[in-house]
Amino acid sequence: MKPINIKNMMASMLLKILTALRILHGKNSQLGAKVARYLEKGIPTYPIITGKNEFDDILCPNCRGIVGYNDMEEYEKDRCCCHCGQRLKWHE
Ligand SMILES: [Zn+2]
Repeated sequence: MKPINIKNMMASMLLKILTALRILHGKNSQLGAKVARYLEKGIPTYPIITGKNEFDDILCPNCRGIVGYNDMEEYEKDRCCCHCGQRLKWHE
């Protein structure tokens, strides 16, 4: 019977651990990016006003979806973009 080569065993174990860590790290950074995106959307941001006319669109700063128009009532102003969930801040 061949004696077990501890060095080789350790090396292959280490390799397995490193591979596992790399996979885990990849998953973590994907999660990190998701969390970062989520946090960014969570910060209230002023929407983009496209013009000065009453019915000019107001756009989401994140996805450029229409979130309103200039002359709308206070109660119509959404706190979040209905397209992407970006939190919105409105001028008083
Ligand atoms: Zn949006």
